[in-house]
Amino acid sequence: MSKKALITGITGQDGSYMAEFLLAKGYQVYGLTRRTSTITTERIKHIAANIQLVEGDLTDQHSLTHVVREIKPDEVYNLAAQSFVPSSFKQPVLTGEVTALGVTRILEAIRVGYPQAKFYQASSSEMYGKAQEVPQTEHTPFYPRSPYGVAKLYGHWITVNYRESYNMFACSGICFNHESPRRGTEFVTRKITQGVARIKLGKQKKLLMGNLDAKRDWGFAGDYVEAMWLMLQQENPEDFVIGTGETHSVKEFLVEAFKAVGIKNWQDWVEIDKNFYRPAEVDLLIADPKKAFTKLNWKPKTSFSQLVAMMIKNDLKKEEAGV
Ligand code: NDP
Ligand code: GDP
Repeated sequence: MSKKALITGITGQDGSYMAEFLLAKGYQVYGLTRRTSTITTERIKHIAANIQLVEGDLTDQHSLTHVVREIKPDEVYNLAAQSFVPSSFKQPVLTGEVTALGVTRILEAIRVGYPQAKFYQASSSEMYGKAQEVPQTEHTPFYPRSPYGVAKLYGHWITVNYRESYNMFACSGICFNHESPRRGTEFVTRKITQGVARIKLGKQKKLLMGNLDAKRDWGFAGDYVEAMWLMLQQENPEDFVIGTGETHSVKEFLVEAFKAVGIKNWQDWVEIDKNFYRPAEVDLLIADPKKAFTKLNWKPKTSFSQLVAMMIKNDLKKEEAGV
């Protein structure tokens, strides 16, 4: 019998890669989607025939309990969240409801509905925020700098708590930023690659940016879903830092993107707009992924320049086609 997996956030970047990955491994894949007035399944339309969508919302306990009871999944990947830091400053309470309490709701659904399910929580390097140590490991103290980071920290600890209180197989991947051609266009990497592609094609004159000095450990989302899966195949549930161990500034990402389309004078096209600055910034994130490298035998396969090139190529194609 093939294994069953339930993915929350299947319509998002990671959910779509996770669904592809699990289908290739022979899983029966179920995806939780919420009711929206427009279609949000763009990222999974190529695999729609092979997955089953079920309706529910992380703010609605009943729907989650019902879905878990019906499916009885072997594995649950909780990838759903209000995931954008600036929106978390604008909608802090909603972010807490979804990104923090939503984790308790799905854990409760598993506890009462099918406690033998293995659970993966999408924790985030944003929990390190004002980083207390460089690079960041599983033992680095947390210091979140946004309502999003604070909500993720709650989700992280409630996962630890359910593991220790109820002996559930529940664990978190503390994932550093991971990007792809499917990344939302509001995040800095995709905003840059889409903007640079449009500038190259003469469709845009300026790229308005915020803080170019912030540094992130950027990897490829397609590589990271493998690490998430590996965590649930271990003998015991444990938390892992997932990242590349390399850091780059937003400015370096910009330079690389303009270079990829053959534009040298990038400064001519970029303008700083204070509206993109945040009330509190996370200056430097860099993972120490040694534990994942040794215990999971996982390594990222995509380099920084390969990631930028992949995203630029996709955006040039999309912009040329006018989609
Ligand atoms: P996305 O923003 O691309 O996807 C978020 C998903 O959550 C979407 O499918 C969205 O559905 C769903 N969602 C939002 N609110 C609700 C709700 N109330 N009920 C049910 N579903 C909801 O995020 P990513 O794929 O990039 O990230 C996946 C997870 O990993 C998130 O939890 C994120 O916070 C975390 N993370 C991501 C990192 C990254 O660099 N990408 C780094 C570290 C952690 P809809 O399509 O309907 O909006
Ligand atoms: P985050 O790490 O989850 O907040 O991911 P983002 O991609 O949203 O932001 C990464 C970094 O880029 C942050 O330090 C932002 O302040 C910085 N940044 C600079 N300009 C921009 C911009 O125009 N948009 C976004 N989203 N981030 C920007």
